[in-house]
Amino acid sequence: MANAATKRAENVDGDFFVDESCIDCGTCMWMEPKVFHDAGGMSAVHTQPNTTALKESALRALVSCPTASIGVSVPATRALVKEVIAQAPFHLADNVYHCGFHSEDSFGATSYFIQRDKGNVLVDSPRFAAPLVKRIEALGGVRWMFLTHRDDVADHDKWAAKFGCERIIMASDARGLDAETKLKSGEPYEIAPGLTVYPTPGHTRGSACLLYKDKFLFTGDHMAWSKRLGHLYAFRSACWFDWGEVVKSLHRLESLDFSWVLPGHGWPWHGSKAEKAHQMRHCLAWADAA
Ligand code: SF4
Repeated sequence: MANAATKRAENVDGDFFVDESCIDCGTCMWMEPKVFHDAGGMSAVHTQPNTTALKESALRALVSCPTASIGVSVPATRALVKEVIAQAPFHLADNVYHCGFHSEDSFGATSYFIQRDKGNVLVDSPRFAAPLVKRIEALGGVRWMFLTHRDDVADHDKWAAKFGCERIIMASDARGLDAETKLKSGEPYEIAPGLTVYPTPGHTRGSACLLYKDKFLFTGDHMAWSKRLGHLYAFRSACWFDWGEVVKSLHRLESLDFSWVLPGHGWPWHGSKAEKAHQMRHCLAWADAA
């Protein structure tokens, strides 16, 4: 829990606050923009949650914060934290969940859990936090851990040791990483029916996306939604390999069917398949000009 003694002056007065340990990973801002925003290069509470639903949503951000920089001062709200922890992983849609419990080792990257009859999947690594491990065990454990790229691997070794899952990553991002399957081809790779890896080099040499059921596209640091631009985009200022490759990889995604974009960093996106075509048109026009 955050430290009230180092509460940021930028917070509005009230129950919720952010302290000076914030690393500005952005998680709380996309999880609950009605409460958190960027103020001076760190997060701060701009509006105190005034409904139970909003309070719970802000508490999910508190549980997800990689540095425990969000605090609550009212004892009744503190008592609610346990209830919210018990809800993790947080349900998104169908059988897809947001894990919460982001890790500072991956700069607060988001990881996801897919519950399937024939083997569950973790997409990137959340913190190996006891309450989350227990819940994922209750949901059937982990058969595969797909790692979108080398930066968001966090506690992958602990999850693999606990559940004996097969870790899958592109070989060119696997240096020094003890993964069971290292993909070398630039072609799509089917893990299981309806679960396909699409190599999308650019952000790193071995970045890749995972498409589930032609509906959920897990993009790592390749593509996210931009609140400022109002469309899907890629991280021009955080490209560690080759921007030209990022643009080519964005074009490769255009023909895929999806209605959710679930990124490692930044804002998720959800819309109809027709809206997806519109989003991708804007994204590609923007990327070609950037
Ligand atoms: S989730 Fe935590 S570290 Fe990330 S921006 Fe919010 S307060 Fe800061």
